[in-house]
Amino acid sequence: MIPYGRQDIRSEDIDAVIEVLKSDFITQGPVVARFEAALAKKVGAARAVAMNSATSALHVAVAALDLGPGDLMWTSPITFVASANCGRYVGADVDFVDIDPDTFNMCPKALAAKLEQAKAVGRLPKVIVPVHMCGQSAAMHEIAELVRPLGIRIVEDASHAVGGSYMGELVGSCKYSDITIFSFHPVKIITTAEGGMALTNDPELAARMERLRSHGITRDSEMMSQEPDGPWYYQQIELGWNYRMTEMQATLGLKQQERLEEYVDRRNALADRYDILLADLPLDRPGRQKGARSSFHLYVIRLHDETRHRAVFEALQSHGVGVNLHYIPVHLQPYYRALGFAVGDFPLAEAYYQRAISIPLYSGLTDPEQDQVVTALKAALA
Ligand SMILES: *Cc1c(COP(=O)(O)O)cnc(C)c1O
Repeated sequence: MIPYGRQDIRSEDIDAVIEVLKSDFITQGPVVARFEAALAKKVGAARAVAMNSATSALHVAVAALDLGPGDLMWTSPITFVASANCGRYVGADVDFVDIDPDTFNMCPKALAAKLEQAKAVGRLPKVIVPVHMCGQSAAMHEIAELVRPLGIRIVEDASHAVGGSYMGELVGSCKYSDITIFSFHPVKIITTAEGGMALTNDPELAARMERLRSHGITRDSEMMSQEPDGPWYYQQIELGWNYRMTEMQATLGLKQQERLEEYVDRRNALADRYDILLADLPLDRPGRQKGARSSFHLYVIRLHDETRHRAVFEALQSHGVGVNLHYIPVHLQPYYRALGFAVGDFPLAEAYYQRAISIPLYSGLTDPEQDQVVTALKAALA
């Protein structure tokens, strides 16, 4: 089976992780700080806060922006459920903005229309979470122009987009957002097994996120309600969690990020090759967003004939091609339906779901393996 995605772990990565196991620190220590500094520097953000997953980082990010009960958060319906769930963790209401059918990202026009309606009824979102679907940045310039004048805060869910760029800057620079989130799950661009990171240019947000990832505890006497009782003293000044990353994970991430450009270049070469090899087939290839270079976490095709969706998916599986579907529209999940969402709420996201298939794409995919995928796809469509 050719999987739809897989990690690339090299012997130098393994050796480095074994070394750190023999050191004094195995949970959050000096290597976590080095991994944070390396990635912040690479993408051009002032600060980075590593956590045990992107899901944790999303939770901490919206908590640090004081999202809470009675507030509203908007995200895209075509994403992994974690992009929406972070709002629910802090007790906020979650709603969605339909997608641009070409890029699968939050549509700025749909956003503008929804903002007008929200203004009219006096219920604007406090936080908006655009998702960089497949690794291609959403139209952040347009989104930021629409929401920033209204005081709405922006968290980019860039779980797919580590190493992608937009308008000449790497995703993660936070030029168009308050916080950007990366995931290091094994199918993503670089991995720490489980892991995530929140990047920001705001030192106060960074300090708050560091505190929230570790129980809401501070050792900074400036933050305390009284003089420290002694050198042992710390205070819990708010409610946080244990979302720390381990030194083993950070060591793996530090090695992996050295090869980020290599990974993204290879993924782009494979995507360009798919574009050519699939040009004459009855399907739509992924659209390209103006000014963006995708990290190509995923390559999603959309069949012209949606009545054959399931048959083509199953035929690919039976030919040994590990296809997947990213994603089932989040608002149609039973949990969200129970909150009042229904079929028809976000028609473009639902139409996408009827036609989309993710085909294999990862840095270790060889050209002959890719040819095998294309041959299987041709047979499945015949
Ligand atoms: C993978 C993913 C997440 C969650 O990442 P974890 O590190 O597995 O918690 C969140 N959002 C999107 C869009 C993702 O693809």
